[in-house]
Amino acid sequence: MKPLKTAAELRAAVAGTAPPRSCSCALGACDGWESLAEYRWEEAQMTRVATLHDTDIDEPMLEEFHPGGTRYDSPQAPVAVSFFPYNRCDVWHCGRCDRHLLRYIEFGGYNVDPRVRALDPTKIMD
Ligand SMILES: [Zn+2]
Repeated sequence: MKPLKTAAELRAAVAGTAPPRSCSCALGACDGWESLAEYRWEEAQMTRVATLHDTDIDEPMLEEFHPGGTRYDSPQAPVAVSFFPYNRCDVWHCGRCDRHLLRYIEFGGYNVDPRVRALDPTKIMD
């Protein structure tokens, strides 16, 4: 799967699908980053549709992008495709609620912590 590198590519990848229904799946709203430790990832209804993770890069940048003073887990934080953690995310589509979801694995200490955030196309930027 060829990684998407720009906001325009990501917008195009998620455009043209049905508008999301209000969520009925176990993930909840996840407007900001949530740990999957507390939510269920229902594999059977999820399809991986794109990736932002360029595996040719050994260690994607860890810098975050918050021009509006948001924080990592702010619901209003921009989806800045080349910045952490978006630069290591896969893009998934939920067949139940038609949302697109961003997902990556946070590695910390001894645990491996999958994180998920619903993708709001209006927050995508370079
Ligand atoms: Zn869903």
